Amino acid sequence: MYSKDEIVVCKKSKLEIQNIFNQGIIDRDDLKILKHPRRILCANYPIIKDNGEQEIITAFRVLYNNNLGPGKGGIRFHPSVDLDEVSELAFIMSLKTALVDLPFGGAKGGIRIDPKEFSKTELEKISRGYVREFCKYFGPQIDVPAPDVNTTPEIMGWMIDEYNKITGENTKAFITGKTIENGGSEGRDKSTAMGGFYILQEEYKEIQDKLKLKVAIQGFGNAGSVMANLLQAEGYTVVAVSDSSTAIYNERGLDIEDVFNYVYGGDKKQRLIGYSNAKQISNEELLELDVDILVPAALGGVITIQNVKNIKAKNILELANGPITVEAEHVLEEKNIQVIPDLLANAGGVIVSYFEWDQNLKEEHWSLEDVNNKLKDRIITAYKKVLEVAGKESLSLRKAAYKIAIQKINKK
Ligand code: NAD
Repeated sequence: MYSKDEIVVCKKSKLEIQNIFNQGIIDRDDLKILKHPRRILCANYPIIKDNGEQEIITAFRVLYNNNLGPGKGGIRFHPSVDLDEVSELAFIMSLKTALVDLPFGGAKGGIRIDPKEFSKTELEKISRGYVREFCKYFGPQIDVPAPDVNTTPEIMGWMIDEYNKITGENTKAFITGKTIENGGSEGRDKSTAMGGFYILQEEYKEIQDKLKLKVAIQGFGNAGSVMANLLQAEGYTVVAVSDSSTAIYNERGLDIEDVFNYVYGGDKKQRLIGYSNAKQISNEELLELDVDILVPAALGGVITIQNVKNIKAKNILELANGPITVEAEHVLEEKNIQVIPDLLANAGGVIVSYFEWDQNLKEEHWSLEDVNNKLKDRIITAYKKVLEVAGKESLSLRKAAYKIAIQKINKK
């Protein structure tokens, strides 16, 4: 058992909450309720490996807050998973679900493994074991998991099967991020980028000729590559994209279709370092390009006090979680560079997860067009609300988003 004074969780977010409390944006009651996670679960359970040896698996599930509904949040498989990280992510989920008005609280799970070191059979045992450990704390009206880093629709399938075996239920709504055949939603795979894209479309709706808008995107994975495709299809000039190997640049605009086919078109995913139809630059240079829109879509903490003075973008859309450090954000504010915060910018994923849960409960299957229309409505409503509060109270978009979300959680 952990007591609230024994554990230190959510260092970065607590700092941010403390900051906005100090500035009078939220009050003492708001601060109290969000200081500690509602429930922390930790397990060390054995599995038998293919070679007959026993291995102990360390796993966590944190339900940060459930004022607005059941917990919602993914499960990640990663060697660096710890209680602090899982709690931080669960905290962010609580704010995100509140901001976009979902009937969910916030939660997150993690298993401390390097999935590359385990066979498929072993991963299945690990996934099923996780559900067995925490089963009574999961359920469509209690806490609803989903995929996250290194977890896939197939893993969600093993988990739902285990849950239904243990409980004797036959519910699809226990988990989201499933394959379509297994009750998943249309549009879930592209929903994170799609949500951010709708925000940009709203932001630049007055600009007819989108070619004028130059964009750089860090990260060409699930979120970044979909965003690049969506923007180019609408006529924006995507001048740079990157992955962990390099960044590529063309000041007149990259041919994103060609880049996409190069990376994803073959049997095996290719790294951008081998792409020869554009100039290679470093990831650091990409962040410092003179563009209208910069989209960090890779890692956290990439815009720091060291490089922030060189950032020239006019607008930053945080598709990645936490790409800007707290100190760097102060400098961006001084430089009048707008930041559309992660809380809002990448909420498309959890919005469509909610749609999946809702469809499962109602035993419905919505068309892609329906899903995207509902996603657009919900994210644009939240975006307009953030703009309104930011404008009225002279706050940054992030602070306005925090305020709206925290007050929602506290039902103010
Ligand atoms: P992904 O693993 O599919 O892609 C990550 C991309 O970042 C890859 O192209 C990878 O090569 C690149 N990358 C890794 N290290 C890098 C480095 N040091 N420098 C430059 N690029 C690097 O991941 P994703 O699902 O696209 O997620 C990207 C970000 O978006 C993460 O911060 C994630 O938390 C956030 N996010 C994703 C979703 C989603 O639904 N996919 C939802 C919410 C938030």
